[in-house]
Amino acid sequence: MTLEKKIKDFGLEPKNVNKLIRYKELLLQWNEKMNLTAITDSDEVDVKHFLDSLSLFKTKYFNGAESVIDIGTGAGFPGLVLKIYNEDLKITLVDSLNKRLGFLKEVIEELDLQDIERVHGRAEELGRKPEYREQFDIATSRAVANLSTLLEYDLPFVKEGGYFIAMKGPEFLMELEKAKSAMDILGGELKEVIEVRLPMDITHYLIVIKKIKKTPKKYPRGGGKPKNRPL
Ligand code: SAM
Repeated sequence: MTLEKKIKDFGLEPKNVNKLIRYKELLLQWNEKMNLTAITDSDEVDVKHFLDSLSLFKTKYFNGAESVIDIGTGAGFPGLVLKIYNEDLKITLVDSLNKRLGFLKEVIEELDLQDIERVHGRAEELGRKPEYREQFDIATSRAVANLSTLLEYDLPFVKEGGYFIAMKGPEFLMELEKAKSAMDILGGELKEVIEVRLPMDITHYLIVIKKIKKTPKKYPRGGGKPKNRPL
């Protein structure tokens, strides 16, 4: 089945499909030289990378959202897919591995995408910088860390009234339970959990957290603490 049909069947209008296909070609080419993804089957890339990333557009949170930051974007999931699909979004892609940013640069240049920034750095350091702190309508992350750690990575970037959306698998309930104090301390409130059904019998969850108050200045903590000693 074509990517266009998959996107339609998923309930979204197929847009910029040729650009997504070129992105897939580049991903698979570069993946032969560097480790970008364990998923190399064309249908699986369509479902597990593209549709999964696009599932964010099935929520209402992107209506009116202008600026989005994707923390731990890796080879560009979900952030680069969001940008290719909706060229009006301002997207910032963050990763601590510079090699992967080289790949993102090539895709951005070849597809001639504007208003997209790549930032090399660790979330817990960038989140303390005024140019990034509390500047985004939405922060998102997929497959980066457990929810308590992610809250400390992502929430500092979100404006008051904005959202952090974590893309999670079925383990989300236990993670939510453990993340209660982190959410409270960092200024977040659980808004809802959205179940996403993908082809290939895959179910994922979008954990939507609203930023209801500013994150206290002492967060995020440095020295690997968000990961090694989650709140
Ligand atoms: N989000 C992508 C996806 O779903 O395919 C990549 C997932 S990959 C398993 C996790 C990525 O997060 C890696 O590229 C890693 O370099 C990045 N990462 C991990 N900790 C980070 C941190 N503290 N700050 C920025 N990036 C981080």
